Amino acid sequence: MIDLRSDTLTLPTKDMLATILNAQFGDDGRTDSAGRGEDPTVNELEDYAAALLERESAVLFSSGTLANTAALLTHCAPGDKVLIDPVIHMYYSEKAAFSGRFGQLEPVFYQLNAQHKPDLQDIESKLQAGGTSLICIENSHNFTGGTCLNAAQTKAICDLAHRFNVPVHLDGARLFNAAASTGDSAAQLVKHVDSVMFCLSKGLGAPMGSLLLGSGDFIRKARNTRRLLGGGMRQAGVFAAPGLYALKHNIPRLKEDNLNARLFAKACGQLQYIQVQQQIDSNIVMLNAGATGLTPQQFCAEALQRGLYIRPILQNDVRLVFYNAITGEDAENAAKIIRSMDQTF
Ligand SMILES: *Cc1c(COP(=O)(O)O)cnc(C)c1O
Repeated sequence: MIDLRSDTLTLPTKDMLATILNAQFGDDGRTDSAGRGEDPTVNELEDYAAALLERESAVLFSSGTLANTAALLTHCAPGDKVLIDPVIHMYYSEKAAFSGRFGQLEPVFYQLNAQHKPDLQDIESKLQAGGTSLICIENSHNFTGGTCLNAAQTKAICDLAHRFNVPVHLDGARLFNAAASTGDSAAQLVKHVDSVMFCLSKGLGAPMGSLLLGSGDFIRKARNTRRLLGGGMRQAGVFAAPGLYALKHNIPRLKEDNLNARLFAKACGQLQYIQVQQQIDSNIVMLNAGATGLTPQQFCAEALQRGLYIRPILQNDVRLVFYNAITGEDAENAAKIIRSMDQTF
């Protein structure tokens, strides 16, 4: 069975888990005047992440959803207008910040261009209309198939936003896959945004955890929002230690996941009915199987019969995600299964 449902399927290794036994712990919820807790391993991870991304401060969350939600609710108040794209994870999957029952932020949609990147002209016209409190972007962009923004493209969006005094929040759940893809460092990719979230729990392979980074002032406020949302923690060094291990050891190999995604697409060759995403930037590949006459659910059930575990995404597509348990040979075998399915219809 080749399981390409998500890079959240990464399992912690023995070496990673061993860091827990040697870590020092404390009560992260007992804070000093700067809002810093007493768990030294959490503090070490936050400082390490801040130094790595060359930002002033960082705060640890149990999940990316909680970190994004806290970021949005720190930047904004209920009723504020937030510029987002229609398939951004924060809106399409997470929802809480934009829900009428919870965050009550008002989404205003900007378009993605033909390359699935934010359309600057459209953003500018939305900004000119006034009343925007925040712009959100995503890098890599999950639901468009791992599309990556490079440092120059990110800076152009931020420069535009800042001309209108609007801050930018970056959902960088797979920021280090984007860095591996673009050749820009992760620090360069986040240099101009006002806040950024990234996940330890995706390709980096830690069991859980996401970091939110920004200015000292912003992170102090975000710590307060985290507490209000019930996201405060105690001996969180238990997952900060594997997270530190992930940041210190697992960044260089992410490029293999990006390569395996391309290897898969290349090995699919020319197909008659199944459309494979053309431009592959990172570790995600989308398929469209509409011409087979199967629904995405039926298509995935058929793939599972043949030993490939994949999932439908959005309305009409199927997503494949490459991560550390998946070898080049797995990628080629997954392509063989897709080719054999294509010949069935
Ligand atoms: C996974 C993911 C998140 C956060 O997800 P959690 O499962 O809550 O950690 C946020 N944004 C994107 C684009 C993601 O893929």
